[in-house]
Amino acid sequence: MARRRGSTEESAAPGAEPRLARRRRAAVPIAFHRSVRAPDDLARVAEVLASRRPGGGGPVGAACEGLLESEVGVGRALLTTSCTHALEMAALLLDLEPGDEVILPSFTFSSTANAFVLRGARPVFCDIRPDTCNLDEEQLPALLTERTRAIVPVHYAGVACEMDRITEIAAAGGVAVVEDAAHGLFGTYKGRQLGSLGAMAALSFHETKNFTCGEGGALLLSDPALEERAEAIRDKGTNRAQFVRGQADKYTWKDVGSSYALADVLAAVLLAQFEQRDAVQTRRAEIWNAYADGLRDWAREYGVALPHVPEGCGPAYHLFHVVLGGTGLRSSLMEHLAADGIATGWHYVPLHSSPMGQRLGARPDDCPVAEAVSGGLLRLPLYPELRDVDVERVVERVSAWRPGRPG
Ligand SMILES: *Cc1c(COP(=O)(O)O)cnc(C)c1O
Repeated sequence: MARRRGSTEESAAPGAEPRLARRRRAAVPIAFHRSVRAPDDLARVAEVLASRRPGGGGPVGAACEGLLESEVGVGRALLTTSCTHALEMAALLLDLEPGDEVILPSFTFSSTANAFVLRGARPVFCDIRPDTCNLDEEQLPALLTERTRAIVPVHYAGVACEMDRITEIAAAGGVAVVEDAAHGLFGTYKGRQLGSLGAMAALSFHETKNFTCGEGGALLLSDPALEERAEAIRDKGTNRAQFVRGQADKYTWKDVGSSYALADVLAAVLLAQFEQRDAVQTRRAEIWNAYADGLRDWAREYGVALPHVPEGCGPAYHLFHVVLGGTGLRSSLMEHLAADGIATGWHYVPLHSSPMGQRLGARPDDCPVAEAVSGGLLRLPLYPELRDVDVERVVERVSAWRPGRPG
């Protein structure tokens, strides 16, 4: 690799000229994503291993849960093996029955739907708003039926959904709100933390997220009536948590459940990162703001949409995306950046038009905004390790791109 950067050496090689002539300078590749690390993560893991109690429901997980409860402002946080599993727990807690309906945005990850489909419920796909890429709350009343049991808003990119309106519509229909806050940890809505706005919320600590232990998640509970059952469901349907606390005299099978607890050995990685949360979020915000400021004029000139943050919302700075006028333009910008070593990413194929969505009865033209956004959306690198020079280079290269002049 080092040799390739030595342009004098390489330009002497026959046949190498055209490729090098196109290259403006020795471009160090910029990765799309690098998962965050805390300086003492390995030491924390070693401590848990040395304790000979690396399993779930231990003291390190409890420390993470306590931190989430106080920072997010919820009654109970339960670490889980993934956000997918936290959503599955939510579906079990709702006692869904076959034929029940759950409304969720089409522009999301499969897990938002799968957790409920596994219980026999039918996902009803809601289109999104073109500005925030979040579920379009004004379409909810038309989608509610007497079978609707829950609305599952996803705070896309870490920007809040219009929760006051969603909560009002849900309350009027007597249905639960379950936040998919996989992108939303430490984002806010009118001064309240994302994840504290529904009866339940799911967080993700997958390697692609702001904080990660590889695979992990959490179920946040704002309704105290759900806490005891949630503990049992996470713990193979047993009352183990109560038994350990001395609140039950027998350790026994009480409910349906599965094995959803996160091992303490992984919680150690998470706790080390949580302790760096201000530094992590501050750096992500700096990069996000540098993109927003640096690309504003370019975006206006070429009709490209930048992320929109409604009044009263504090982003979690999970993603920075641009939305172009179609897949052709998106590919052109993506290739233009790739030629300079800058990796970027698309995002979700809308669920309503996916093969599984189709099998579940959705029509291909159900959610036209989700379709358009999905085809034009490109995500830029956003992680704390990006240096200012990297961010400046991304802004400079994006700004140099013009529609119809690829490369
Ligand atoms: C990442 C993600 C999930 C799934 O998270 P896992 O922890 O990998 O199960 C669910 N919903 C959304 C919106 C996500 O981005």
